Amino acid sequence: MTGDQMVVRCEDAARTFGKGPAAVVAVHGATCRVDAGDRIAIAGPSGSGKSTLLHLMAALERPTRGQISWPGLPGAPANGTIGVVFQGPSLIPALNAIENTALPLVLTGMAEATAHRRAAHALGLLDATDLAHRLPEELSGGQAQRVAVARVLALGPRLVLADEPTGQLDRATGQHLIDVLLTAAEELGAALVVTTHDPAVAERLSRQWTMHEGRLTSDSALAPWPECRPAPRRKETP
Ligand code: ADP
Ligand code: MG
Repeated sequence: MTGDQMVVRCEDAARTFGKGPAAVVAVHGATCRVDAGDRIAIAGPSGSGKSTLLHLMAALERPTRGQISWPGLPGAPANGTIGVVFQGPSLIPALNAIENTALPLVLTGMAEATAHRRAAHALGLLDATDLAHRLPEELSGGQAQRVAVARVLALGPRLVLADEPTGQLDRATGQHLIDVLLTAAEELGAALVVTTHDPAVAERLSRQWTMHEGRLTSDSALAPWPECRPAPRRKETP
């Protein structure tokens, strides 16, 4: 695997929140990599550090120790090559679905008409064309998540990071959303990382990582991956 196929690399990356006795080590040194074409589930119970690890990969959080880099994504993380589907509702309530989808494009300076054309195309890929003029409050949870995926898709990212995208959905709707994410990743030629506490969701991805108490404890038995190792046990100094 050459460097330019490695979309994100975490080297002993850790994130601690707070200081002193109240400090919480959300992620102990995580050493892992995501390559172009990967479909990875990060599974683990609530509070195990999944969101924090995903936010580190998205550069939404800075590591308090170690390094995150994006060797295969020149210009990342600043240039829209990383798309994040957030846990829970993330659409702007006052904007309809197509305006929500177009907004990140408009914010990059794209002309509104062009942004709307791209947004319409992205909604179409997600079978959400008929939702285009609905406000978020007029969408079901599954429909809102599809629009949130369209918003990411419209940007054309090479790495899609989805944080518990099925967490608020019933099982059937959740499984459909995973279909949608897999199709979107294929369409974009993007790597996909999905956090979940649901084993039935995790097994839909081709690799499974597990987090426990802030540590990546295993990689997939189906696809052993020596470069994703459990963090060494060490005493943390917050
Ligand atoms: P998960 O996504 O697996 O539920 P998180 O990454 O959200 O886990 O959280 C891991 C740990 O870090 C938890 O103990 C959580 O309370 C703590 N944590 C996460 N974000 C913050 C924050 N911004 N401030 C303080 N503690 C946090
Ligand atoms: Mg979380």
